[in-house]
Amino acid sequence: MIKVPTRILVVDDEKDFVQMLSLRLKEEGEKPTPAYSGKECLETLKNEEIDVVILDIKMPGMDGIETLREVKRRFPLVEVIMLTGHGTIETAVEGMKLGASDYLLKPADFEDLSAKLETARKRKDEQEERIRRAEARLLMRKVGEI
Ligand SMILES: [Mg+2]
Repeated sequence: MIKVPTRILVVDDEKDFVQMLSLRLKEEGEKPTPAYSGKECLETLKNEEIDVVILDIKMPGMDGIETLREVKRRFPLVEVIMLTGHGTIETAVEGMKLGASDYLLKPADFEDLSAKLETARKRKDEQEERIRRAEARLLMRKVGEI
């Protein structure tokens, strides 16, 4: 079976981390895009089709939670996995209440990340499928009314 790459936006102020993770994701057949701030994350989402955002909580300027709120407000179908250190697990849980799909403890274990990415991707695909079906039903109703 041909693997359809997940379009992943990797957002962290730690450039080395973003580059290392992007490389690894590429090796696994995914399609990563780097971003180094919350602002850059939102800018990229405006211009590119993204399935899942991997989002660091601790960033200077616009932090992860603030970024998450904006992502969910402006791009509700995009799934978000929060990246957290031991000190910010509570914030990660808060993030899930705000619509994040899951969180990942740093340093990220790649197997764990892969599993969470798959779940997030599936969640997005299913939601999009439900929307397509609802739109089709709506169209059928309209046609029926003519
Ligand atoms: Mg950081």
